[in-house]
Amino acid sequence: MTCGGSTATGRSTPSRAAPHRSPTATRVAAAALVAIEAAVVARRRGALVALDTVVRCRRGHLFTTWWIPGASVKSLRLGWWRLQRCPVGRHWSLVTPVRVAGLGDEERASAARYHDARIP
Ligand SMILES: [Zn+2]
Repeated sequence: MTCGGSTATGRSTPSRAAPHRSPTATRVAAAALVAIEAAVVARRRGALVALDTVVRCRRGHLFTTWWIPGASVKSLRLGWWRLQRCPVGRHWSLVTPVRVAGLGDEERASAARYHDARIP
């Protein structure tokens, strides 16, 4: 009895690291900032996965926008402030997420009436 036939053909494709060095520290810091932003926004809107977020502009207008932490093409991101166009007053303003639970029925209805472009 010979224990042959055990030809180990364990061909593991070597996953070589990318040749260029990535600035890991910068990436980690950026990821941490996005995580903090996500936590703050999620806390304010009371849901972690909802896209729709009620925000208030500097003039007090309430509207609903898509707020994806870390991703934005229509606004200039400044942490949990954003410079974007207010569809209520048709002006550019800094907007911040508001706590929906702290709004009255009228305010909530007003926020729901105005929804800006459905792009992040
Ligand atoms: Zn406004």
